[in-house]
Amino acid sequence: MIGVDLGGTKVLSRIVDPTTGATEGRAKVPTPRTGIDDVVDAIVGTVTTLDPEGAIRAIGVGVPGPVADGVVLRCPNIAGWDEPYPLRERLEQRLGRPVVVVNDVDAGAVAEHRLGAGRGTDDLLAVFAGTGVGGGLVLDGRLRTGPRGLAGEFGHLTVVENGRPCGCGGYGHVESYAGKAGIEAEARRRHADEPNHLIGLAQEGRIKSRHLAAALEAGDETTIALIDDAARALGSAIGSLATVVDLPLVVLGGGIIDRLGDAFVDQIRGHLDLGGFGADTVELVLAERLDDAGAVGAAALAADVLG
Ligand SMILES: [Zn+2]
Repeated sequence: MIGVDLGGTKVLSRIVDPTTGATEGRAKVPTPRTGIDDVVDAIVGTVTTLDPEGAIRAIGVGVPGPVADGVVLRCPNIAGWDEPYPLRERLEQRLGRPVVVVNDVDAGAVAEHRLGAGRGTDDLLAVFAGTGVGGGLVLDGRLRTGPRGLAGEFGHLTVVENGRPCGCGGYGHVESYAGKAGIEAEARRRHADEPNHLIGLAQEGRIKSRHLAAALEAGDETTIALIDDAARALGSAIGSLATVVDLPLVVLGGGIIDRLGDAFVDQIRGHLDLGGFGADTVELVLAERLDDAGAVGAAALAADVLG
């Protein structure tokens, strides 16, 4: 299979063995900023570079936006992609082979389920906390996307009524507490009253996961409080979701979680709020951080359509 990871800055294609996750070949170009037609050309170009003879049987594409039945509803990170676009159909016309189009976070969840920390279980939620917070849900061994592509949109569960503003326009969502953008906004707001080490490290630039780790290490009180808020938001939302769908396993990854590691996972565990129905056995584990997980997960789903 070929797996394609379409991101806001680059289009990356790899040849993938979907049963082992082994990858070879690499074709990468910057994501065009000149409209969807050029993005489609870039995807086709990287696939053709890897497979000039057209010998690969199916292609999986991970995209940074919600997907319903092969239609990408929007991609906020890609210039000019504000409307639904039938990407699967267009790519199948161009490439003459089956194409699967999947949200990139969902592709990462599939990679963890089949080849990473979720091997051997049929039901899991994968949560990735970076600039924002995304999630992918596997139920009964299958990725659940939902009729509108929203299933697993974990970052926009409300955890604090009338809480911090979220990038989506809402308030009090998981992402506004556990995503770097939300943490940074709150750290800058507090910095105006009382300087904190986190903004001292980031200065005018974006806060990085390593800044969070360094400020925690230095004992900065604002950072300690903000990370506790993040763990509380994640624990609360994971607990609710685990109760609703009876989840035995949650795989945790993304820049912040990778960096803060087991100590942060323990902190999230401390804030798990599982309600009163006995869902007391949800296991939290770190993601295995597979290389090019988006491309690998998309390729694994492409293999499924061949049966
Ligand atoms: Zn939101």
